[in-house]
Amino acid sequence: MPLEMRVIPCLRDNYAYLLRDPESGRVAVVDVPDAEPVRSALDAEGWALTDILITHHHDDHIAGVPELRAESGAKVWGAAQDAERLPLLDHALSPGDSVALGTQMAEVIDVPGHTIGHIAFHFPDSQLAFTADSLMALGCGRLFEGTPEQMWASLQALMRLPDETRICSGHDYSKSNGAFATHVDPDNSALQARLAQLDRDRGTGAPMAVATLAQEKATNPFLRAGEDYLKDAHGMKGASDLAMFTHLRSLKDTF
Ligand code: ZN
Ligand code: FE
Repeated sequence: MPLEMRVIPCLRDNYAYLLRDPESGRVAVVDVPDAEPVRSALDAEGWALTDILITHHHDDHIAGVPELRAESGAKVWGAAQDAERLPLLDHALSPGDSVALGTQMAEVIDVPGHTIGHIAFHFPDSQLAFTADSLMALGCGRLFEGTPEQMWASLQALMRLPDETRICSGHDYSKSNGAFATHVDPDNSALQARLAQLDRDRGTGAPMAVATLAQEKATNPFLRAGEDYLKDAHGMKGASDLAMFTHLRSLKDTF
């Protein structure tokens, strides 16, 4: 049975994701920007937290971890590579490792770029991937620590997941990412349809940072860096996919 999921808005535009394995009753949260909204959601569902999964070291993804760990006894999973700048880990993970949430297994995917040591969690049986600030809805994370090469390789690794996978990212940047996407790829009808849907959903409580990989491939300009028409439109005819990605990422930095 697939995981049950609750999407929890936190802080200004962050998301935490609550996951429950219906067979074992185990409950995980992916990132804890703030303990209070996560605790309220757990109470509302009557769920007891057993596991905390961390994607990367930024404060807006981990600030509430120590508090939730102390009050629930939940086990904390995060990247071994970043152990010295993450909250205390019970399970230090390396790329290719698995996380078990009851009967549901997640594979750990290394997705450096936004930070070094950023990981994603893919639950194949539930068709869910938690990508935080690597692959984001209609965008990708800013390169604070890694290189364009690293982020492009990370996005390509995520693009190899099944198309039906729901990509759950760390922030609602739908407005700014949407504006940039339509600026660089104005004639993309799938993009225009997605932006119209986002406009209808905005403010209704619908999660703004969850879409299938197929949708991202069709609409996210950073996943479309290999498209010849996009290279042509940006004066990058014949450029490598990496060069085009690098161009788009630098345009976004000053957009
Ligand atoms: Zn971040
Ligand atoms: Fe973030």
